[in-house]
Amino acid sequence: MNIGSNPRQFRKALSAWYAAEHRPLPWRTQPSLYRTVVSEFMTQQTKIKTMLPYFDAWIQSFPDFDKLAKAADEDVLKHWEGLGYYSRARNLHKLAKIYIGLETKPHSREEWQQLPGVGPYTSAAISSIALGQANAVVDGNVVRVLARLKNDAREFKNNSAAVKAFTATADYILDEKNPGGHNQAMMELGATVCLKNKPLCATCPVARFCLAKEHGTQEELPCIDSKTIVNVEIDRAWVRKGNHLLLHHISESSTQLAGQYELPELKMISETKSNKRLLSSQSRSITHHRIKEHIFKCTTKGKKDDLLEWVPLGRLDRITLSGPHRRWVRDLLKIDN
Ligand code: SF4
Repeated sequence: MNIGSNPRQFRKALSAWYAAEHRPLPWRTQPSLYRTVVSEFMTQQTKIKTMLPYFDAWIQSFPDFDKLAKAADEDVLKHWEGLGYYSRARNLHKLAKIYIGLETKPHSREEWQQLPGVGPYTSAAISSIALGQANAVVDGNVVRVLARLKNDAREFKNNSAAVKAFTATADYILDEKNPGGHNQAMMELGATVCLKNKPLCATCPVARFCLAKEHGTQEELPCIDSKTIVNVEIDRAWVRKGNHLLLHHISESSTQLAGQYELPELKMISETKSNKRLLSSQSRSITHHRIKEHIFKCTTKGKKDDLLEWVPLGRLDRITLSGPHRRWVRDLLKIDN
């Protein structure tokens, strides 16, 4: 059997499995348009496990479009702190402001795509899951499932090319009577069963439709060129003056992280040569960049940059520190008292 000749049976097997096995995520147990929108923004580039506590806190503080639209920028960013890719929070905030002002609310995929931060994937997800529109969602999980079901070994230069190539198949097998449930089931299958490494074929609800399983090629598919890893090293400064810490206040005109704070790069300060010592080295990965950041305790003769600020330690909880800087600052304060 294959999905091309048996789409109805495939849909039936998939939806029965999803009804019984799906994870009870908060936007599924208490579904609403607003919750779907928030969950789609938060899960872009963030794992569900990581974003769940953020989702709960967000819904507590901003339970609907109206409350979110009326929230202060600073408050919105504070709730996003730690999730990264802050443009998502800004766009979600802008979207809420526009949404509450619209007399005719967006319904179709095309209408949703007019709103900030909503691209082809997000518009398909929102319009199908929350509004029952027949649009297939294709993300990395769905690409993996489809490539394996079809045993499709075409090579793609990146994820976007693969998404484009599998959209026609995703449209073909879509359950038009229940597009939201079907899309969520496809993504759930990719996230929990058809895993990248070691897919759980023995318990897969659609194994009988899977050509890759038949040929033993599951783990080779899909064939997507992974980007070359770029290594980046950054030296940062840890400078204290009594109960103040020197931080870089990122310019409001910056395209990324505008208005947030971070430990300054060493090159931004006029460090004194004496007493500089390495306090900590941190590694993290962002897309295809592997970043190593070394934090040096030092003293300064002065600020080279107007965007450097002496921030009282008592104010740290009220400002938004970008990415992992909140954790670094908290940990370093414990050893530098
Ligand atoms: Fe994926 Fe295996 Fe199921 Fe095929 S049988 S869809 S490879 S989990």
